[in-house]
Amino acid sequence: MITIETAITFNDDLPDEVDVVVIGGGVNGVFAALNMRRKGLKVVVLEKGRIAGEQSSRNWGWIRQHGRDPAELPIMMEASQLWESFDKEVKGRTGFKRQGVLYLSQTEAAQEKRETWIDTAKEHGLNTVAISKDKLSNFIQRDSSTKDFWFGGVHTASDARAEPWQAIPAIAELAHSEGVIIRENCAVRALDIQAGQINAVVTEAGYIKTAQVVLAGGAWSSLFLRRHGINIPQLTVRASVARTEAIAEVATSNSADQGLAYRRREDGGYTVALTDFEEHFVGPDSFRHLSKWIKTGYQSRHDLKLRWTALKDTPAAWNVDRRWQADQITPFEKMRILDPAPTPGKIKLMQQRFAERFPQIGEPKILNAWAGMIDAMPDLVPIVDRVPQLPALIVSTGMSGHGFGIGPAFGRIIAQIACEEKSEHDLQRFRFSRFSDGSRLDIGPSI
Ligand SMILES: Cc1cc2nc3c(=O)[nH]c(=O)nc-3n(C[C@H](O)[C@H](O)[C@H](O)COP(=O)(O)OP(=O)(O)OC[C@H]3O[C@@H](n4cnc5c(N)ncnc54)[C@H](O)[C@@H]3O)c2cc1C
Repeated sequence: MITIETAITFNDDLPDEVDVVVIGGGVNGVFAALNMRRKGLKVVVLEKGRIAGEQSSRNWGWIRQHGRDPAELPIMMEASQLWESFDKEVKGRTGFKRQGVLYLSQTEAAQEKRETWIDTAKEHGLNTVAISKDKLSNFIQRDSSTKDFWFGGVHTASDARAEPWQAIPAIAELAHSEGVIIRENCAVRALDIQAGQINAVVTEAGYIKTAQVVLAGGAWSSLFLRRHGINIPQLTVRASVARTEAIAEVATSNSADQGLAYRRREDGGYTVALTDFEEHFVGPDSFRHLSKWIKTGYQSRHDLKLRWTALKDTPAAWNVDRRWQADQITPFEKMRILDPAPTPGKIKLMQQRFAERFPQIGEPKILNAWAGMIDAMPDLVPIVDRVPQLPALIVSTGMSGHGFGIGPAFGRIIAQIACEEKSEHDLQRFRFSRFSDGSRLDIGPSI
């Protein structure tokens, strides 16, 4: 996992002028930069902390087509192919493997619900199939003396995984080798807007003149935009993850049921997480965007816990400056890497649930645990679009807990947007204006 202790790898000199400045060196910023460079643009990526220091190294590493919003699915199917080819380009360093995704059901009703997605998969030519109880042993290794834990499952064999903390730095190195300028530990403080046009970005290390900007700032995007009077109803949730020691294989595919998710890692351990627990830290934005979020919040009420003391200096916190001058130290410099502690008690619960499912292993030893702050939009699909009132600004954010897998394809789409090319994909669902143009909120599958 990448933290503030991770050494700085990219420390290029700041250019005076570029075609595009990318704010944020997560999966979105890095793939966008590489794709734009391949279209001949001069690009700089500015990252306040470390490449992939936030969500992009902390996620589960699922490259999942299964269960996607129908508007995301064709993009995700492309992304899945792109992961495979990028992995070849970096000689296997992303840890990519097509090991499938298996959603397990503990009751017949849950199984029926899961199977409804198979029609969507079929419409798009995706090989998702229902798995009956007696066939689960092809995917899950359990002691035959233990009683059945699952009623059945739904499986997508072409789904995959990568190891996030090595994948995005490897893609950043590829981008760098092709001429993308990258600077870590360099926050963008503000846009320099003159006569309604972007003229430059102001960084903590100086100005860069630019024609366009891509904001891929993850959990910080809304704070950055607000400084310029641009409002998006983005909120965040904390999700905790743990890594087990290497153990015998218990599940071949990335698997999840109503309580636990686990996926086999390249190192022989499992990345495990709870599937029924996330936390939202209430802060000023929670109230500001309440009307947009109330329906989504209600739908998630069983899994989402509210916390009344937002973590200091994080974008949700009460203490964070929401207005600053470009010559002042900003919230982005005060918190180089958003590295929340995992929720107390929940790692033990992961161990217990693992043992319940796999008594032959018992409670696995946890080598380390961490958390990430997921950035989400009220309809649980991202914004990938130009900002109507400032068209030189392209926003790619609000990935809503599933932006790692889809990153390579959104990267290609952002490059198309930057070059004024028409995308083959229908991007209407991801338009910037949907929260302000009176559209009905159409909530996607889940975080
Ligand atoms: C626990 C967890 C599990 C997840 N599991 C999965 C999964 O299995 N599959 C999946 O597809 N997705 C998953 N996700 C979601 C996925 O990780 C994110 O959607 C994705 O990484 C978002 O990428 P990003 O580039 O938009 O943002 P981030 O990775 O958060 O990157 C944004 C970057 O912008 C930088 N930044 C912000 N503001 C500034 C500024 N002003 N100047 C300079 N830099 C700035 C930040 O430091 C940060 O590094 C998970 C997320 C979490 C937290």
